[in-house]
Amino acid sequence: MKEILLCKCGELVLKGLNRRKFEDRLQKTLNWRLKKVGNFKVHGCQSTFYVEPLDENAPMDEAMEICRRVFGLVGVCRAAVCEKDIRDIKEKAALYLKDLLGGVRTYKVETKRSDKRFALTSPQISREVGGYLSDVYPHLKPHMDDPQVTVRVEVRENYAFVHGGPVPGAGGLPTGTSGRGMLLLSGGIDSPVAGWMMAKRGLELGGVHFFSYPYTSQEAKQKVLDLADVLAKWCGKLTVTVVPFTHIQTEIRDKCKEDYFTLIMRRFMMRIAEQVAIRQDCQCLITGESLAQVASQTVQAINTTNAVCDMPVLRPVIGMDKEEIITIARRIGTMDISILPYEDCCTVFTPKHPQTKPTMEKVLEEERKLDVEALIAEALEGVEKVTLG
Ligand code: ATP
Ligand code: MG
Repeated sequence: MKEILLCKCGELVLKGLNRRKFEDRLQKTLNWRLKKVGNFKVHGCQSTFYVEPLDENAPMDEAMEICRRVFGLVGVCRAAVCEKDIRDIKEKAALYLKDLLGGVRTYKVETKRSDKRFALTSPQISREVGGYLSDVYPHLKPHMDDPQVTVRVEVRENYAFVHGGPVPGAGGLPTGTSGRGMLLLSGGIDSPVAGWMMAKRGLELGGVHFFSYPYTSQEAKQKVLDLADVLAKWCGKLTVTVVPFTHIQTEIRDKCKEDYFTLIMRRFMMRIAEQVAIRQDCQCLITGESLAQVASQTVQAINTTNAVCDMPVLRPVIGMDKEEIITIARRIGTMDISILPYEDCCTVFTPKHPQTKPTMEKVLEEERKLDVEALIAEALEGVEKVTLG
C-alpha cells in the first residue's frame, strides 16, 4: 500500500508576509535532509508538506525520524494514500490501521475535507468509514469524547489520506529564518541544550570550542564534535571552530590572582567567540549559562564577562534548573555524550575559592597583567574547523 508522510507546519502559518520565506526554507531543509536517505519528493500545500517516496522500498522509518527533527513542523503523520473514492478510503483505513485498531477498544473517525467538490461531507465520510470499521472489527466501540484512537481521513486535492494521528514534531521555526548564532559549545550538558533551544527559534548554528590540549584530551575534543553531530541532526550542517586555548590559560594561571582565573578565562572566551562569530556572519552568541549554577554564573560574574562583547549573548537556559535542562538533553539525544567523563578546559585550572562577587576594577587590574590582544590574535591564528552533518 502506498504511504506518504504529511508534515504539519506550526507557527509559521501565522507569519503573514514572511510565510513564503518560511515555507521555502522548510522545503529546502526537507529536500536536503531526505536526499541523504532515499528518493523522496517534497511539496507543500495548505500548511502541510507532503513527503512522497519515489521508490518502492524508500526508507519510510528513517524519513519519519528525519522529519520529526525538522524545526517548523509540529507533527508528522504517516498515512496511506487512497483514491478519492469512499470505498477505497474505507478499505484502506481498515487494512492500513489494522495493528493500531487491533490493540484498542474505543475509536472515532475524524474527517477533514479540503476538497469541497468531494461528493460526501466530512460528517458523512466519518460515518461511512466508522460504520465500515465497526463491521470489520466488531470489538471496537465508537467513542466520541475520549477515544483511544482517532482515525483521521483527509480529503485533499489529488488524493485522500488515512492515518492514526500525528506524532509530535520538533516545533519552532525553520532553521535559518531567524539569522545565525555562534554557540559556545563545551562538552557539558548545558551548552548543547542552549544551542538546540535557539536553533528551535530559527537560528542557524555555528559552534566554537576552546580546547586546552594537553590539559584536556583528544577524547574531550571528540566528545564536543560528537555533540555537534547530534545537534546537526536537528539544525543541519554545523561547523565547529576549535580554538587553541592552552597558552591563554597558562598565562592566566602564571600571572593573575587565583580567584579571578575563571572570570578572566571566560572573558577571553567571549571575546574570541565574538570574533569567530563576526567572521562567520553570526549576529549573536549563545551560551549554556544558568543563573548561579557555578561561581562564574552569578549576576555580577555574568556582568563582567558580558562587558567584553557588543553582540547580544543569548542564554536560553539562564532560568532553568539542572533537571529541566537534563530533560531536554535526554529528549534531543545529547545527554549520554555529555556525561562521558572527559574534562573540559573550565575545570583544568579551577580556583579553590572562585570569586562570586567580582568587581570590574579588579577584573581590569588583573587583565592588565596580560597581553590580551596578542593572546587573542595567536589563538585565532591557530583555529581548526570541523564541519558536521
Ligand atoms: P556546560 O554544561 O554547557 O559546560 P557549565 O554549567 O559547565 O556549562 P561553564 O563551564 O561555566 O558552565 O560554562 C558556561 C558556558 O560557557 C557553557 O555553557 C558554554 O556555553 C561556555 N563554555 C564553557 N567552556 C567552554 C569551552 N571549552 N568551549 C566553548 N564554550 C565553553
Ligand atoms: Mg562546562
